[in-house]
Amino acid sequence: MFKQPAKFPDDLDPIGVYVHIPFCKTRCNYCGFVSYESDAVLENRYIDSLTREIQGLGSSRLLLNSSFPRRVDSIYFGGGTPSVLDPDIFAKLVCSVSEILIPTNQLEITIEVNPGTYGKNELAVLRHTGITRLSIGAQSLNDSELHKMGRSHSSLDFTKLYSDSRSVGFENISVDLLAGYPGQTLESLEKSLQGIIELEPEHISVYLLEIKTGSKLERDFRNGRLTPLDDDVLADMYEAICSRIQESGFQQYEISNFSKKGRESVHNKKYWTDKIFLGLGLAAHGMTGRARYSNIVDLEKYLEITNHERSAIDSLMVMDALSRFKDAMIMGLRLVDGVDLELMGRYYGFDAYSFVKECLQDLESAGLYEIEKKVIKLTPRGRLLSNIVFSNLL
Ligand code: SF4
Repeated sequence: MFKQPAKFPDDLDPIGVYVHIPFCKTRCNYCGFVSYESDAVLENRYIDSLTREIQGLGSSRLLLNSSFPRRVDSIYFGGGTPSVLDPDIFAKLVCSVSEILIPTNQLEITIEVNPGTYGKNELAVLRHTGITRLSIGAQSLNDSELHKMGRSHSSLDFTKLYSDSRSVGFENISVDLLAGYPGQTLESLEKSLQGIIELEPEHISVYLLEIKTGSKLERDFRNGRLTPLDDDVLADMYEAICSRIQESGFQQYEISNFSKKGRESVHNKKYWTDKIFLGLGLAAHGMTGRARYSNIVDLEKYLEITNHERSAIDSLMVMDALSRFKDAMIMGLRLVDGVDLELMGRYYGFDAYSFVKECLQDLESAGLYEIEKKVIKLTPRGRLLSNIVFSNLL
């Protein structure tokens, strides 16, 4: 039986801040995120509430704790579709965050932008505001696929957004692609990917379709209106994407993420490298070192509670050293570089190598992971079947 980790790591690194904007123009068929149809009145109320939540953090016990790290090196506006909002709003939100946390010189500020929302003027405002990185939700460059997905944009909207973003000076752009949607073929996926690669973004994220409870897609599968792609086809797609992107000068650094040298997402790496991050806004999640928390999911409840200047946190799970260690292992294994078990063991004060050997012994012959010089990494097949490895570590 393995020994419990003896301690929490001291983590004084700068933290990340995630801000959720839960509004979209329309709802995509596969969507499982917390998002509401865009509505100007509701959005204004939401921004007021969000601002109050951020300001309230300044006097929260968490930040008053003298050992809690105060510096911030990433702010990420995700959704939903943040780009349904007036672009001036983001400057105000960044200002509010900067009043309670100290921005480092290298602050990365990312905003998710969907095609068909912002034009050149709005993008120029964002650039002027100090937003350093855009994450563009292309998903496909095939209009028939976009239609089936229920996306509200065309491939032309995407290329226009991309070129407008470059023309106003954005030098760090990530593009999202969705793989495995019913009707998609390996050929059509490769064509979309090729179109994205030719634009030369700094970063590409490729997500394999997940069937989210409550989505239209889930109902369509249940009622037999649509059939999911075969697992072997999905595996072929994943392998083809990984090779094609890497041949084009990107390095794969995480299961779904590829970047040009030095252009990994500072923000997302917080999640995978056991760092502290705060989640603000409806349904946002945070990790404070000793606890994980999630915010209220119901919009009206969120608006009401923040109006009364009460905490938006809905559930909080205090973590012992073992659960934090397991989280760190699972998240760390998402990285292509894997986890250095010796460092991890030193960090947490126990034998990480024995822990892993014991938990993963049943998978030893399946070729899902390898351990070399006490560094454990998922193999390409293991990245595809990562959930099997992760469930053994729980
Ligand atoms: S844009 Fe994203 S968050 Fe909005 S409906 Fe589509 S999948 Fe959901």
